[in-house]
Amino acid sequence: MPLTNLHAVVGGIAGASFYAVERTLADKEIDRDDAIAHFLFGALAGSLPDILEPPLHRRHRRFFHSYFTLGAAALALAAVDNLKDASNDNKLALKAMLSAYMTHLLLDSTTPMGLPTII
Ligand SMILES: [Zn+2]
Repeated sequence: MPLTNLHAVVGGIAGASFYAVERTLADKEIDRDDAIAHFLFGALAGSLPDILEPPLHRRHRRFFHSYFTLGAAALALAAVDNLKDASNDNKLALKAMLSAYMTHLLLDSTTPMGLPTII
């Protein structure tokens, strides 16, 4: 499975970084256990495209690896703060995971195979 470990690590770093930046901007303390949890959320989300579309062959990248999904994730990331019934902790976890998912697609987009537009 090429790049799978890289995606998990980069996703984890994105998740933990998103947590740290949001907490810092809100002038709140950074909790070590929460940072680790966000790293793990990010590692999972950063691996998700290859879980949904396993890299078993060269043309495995479809909808969940597409520019369409990348754009949808960006729009969802921008809309998370508008969710009315979610706690701030849940919003932060969701944003960390969306940003981690996006790192997977951004990294894959730099490979010779790139990403499909939609499918
Ligand atoms: Zn991939």
